[in-house]
Amino acid sequence: MHCSFCGRTRDEVKILIAGQDVHICENCVEHAREIIEQEVTSKDPKVAQTFKLTVRKPVEIKKFLDEYVIGQTDAKKVLAVAVYNHYKRLQQKTISKAEQDVEIEKSNVIMVGETGTGKTLLAKTIARILNVPFAIVDATVFTEAGYVGEDVESILSRLLQVCNYDVAAAEKGIVYIDEIDKIARKSDNPSLTRDVGGEGVQQGLLKLLEGTDVLVSPQGGRKHPEQKLIKLNTQNILFICGGAFNGVAKVIARRLQTNTIGFNVDKENQEAIKKNLLSYVNASDLKTFGLIPELLGRLPIVTHLDPLDVETLHSILTEPKNALIKQYKKLFELEGIDLIIQPEVLDFMVEKALEYKLGARGLRSICESIFTDAMFELPGTNQKTFELDLDYTKRKFETSKINLLKVA
Ligand code: ADP
Repeated sequence: MHCSFCGRTRDEVKILIAGQDVHICENCVEHAREIIEQEVTSKDPKVAQTFKLTVRKPVEIKKFLDEYVIGQTDAKKVLAVAVYNHYKRLQQKTISKAEQDVEIEKSNVIMVGETGTGKTLLAKTIARILNVPFAIVDATVFTEAGYVGEDVESILSRLLQVCNYDVAAAEKGIVYIDEIDKIARKSDNPSLTRDVGGEGVQQGLLKLLEGTDVLVSPQGGRKHPEQKLIKLNTQNILFICGGAFNGVAKVIARRLQTNTIGFNVDKENQEAIKKNLLSYVNASDLKTFGLIPELLGRLPIVTHLDPLDVETLHSILTEPKNALIKQYKKLFELEGIDLIIQPEVLDFMVEKALEYKLGARGLRSICESIFTDAMFELPGTNQKTFELDLDYTKRKFETSKINLLKVA
């Protein structure tokens, strides 16, 4: 007696259910159930509707981004155009091949900018306006196939999970690959040792970025060898990569200097260049940094994010639609308390975020350190206003653990 589906014998399974001339084991029943569930949800009109593509003009996309992301004009423009062209390309696909004279190539993007300057936020916000499945993955967890770690294909499992296994929706989705700089080649000599976390992963990414049929295991990982694989074509998936590329500024500086040797570049100009080196980043700098040329060829659009200065941090605190300060005001309002913040308090928060090199991400921890006590004590009392002044802020900040975070 054995399972008619997987062939396991009676001894290898717990339960063997008998039908007319056939048997099925508990493993196969479970897999059949998963398959049915996936099929049903992918055909569910409710799911399909949530991912109905809405194409917007680049100006509209940028305007929408402006509501959530402060500054970063260059990156916003580049992304808006890239995404718009990408979806134009998708529409062109519906025209028959014979009618097309020019085939538009895919416009995957790579963003270079310090951590916490809004790379993920930009990618997330863009996915929101376009209403397409969006997955964020971290490049650091990948290793070359066959080694401990995740295969690059698991990127697609993530995308499928986001849209409830709606393959058609996933095939038009956007994937944000974070920390792409962490898979840079470890040494210039490629044959020295196998570089399974660096170059090996870059090689693995090539085919995904370019567009092929990939067999994806729905749950990701290699733990479920028997699960049904789903075929996904990556040709229309937009890949946006981001990385801090620490140290790339030096590479850029070196390149610019060699380019200007012998020329009389005026001092002022040089200062301006030095101040914002990142804005001159191009593919050759990233190659020097350790990304392989084949990968860079598949990420044709390179853009940068500016470091956050005092003014930008200030705006981030108060201006975006879901700005931190607006969120805290709302939290207090829900308790019937009017939160009033003195302007110096905001200056103090920004100053500390810069001083502690915490970037925009740090603003949240700073706010928490200041607001937690009030949020603990005030609910339930009949206090109707809470006025936050500099004295109180400093006191709370200094007694909080965040004080220990200071970077030397
Ligand atoms: P990274 O560049 O490391 O991907 P994130 O996009 O994750 O950075 O930014 C971290 C957080 O900082 C965001 O969730 C957001 O709250 C805030 N932030 C960073 N940059 C900006 C910006 N330019 N405008 C508004 N908020 C920002």
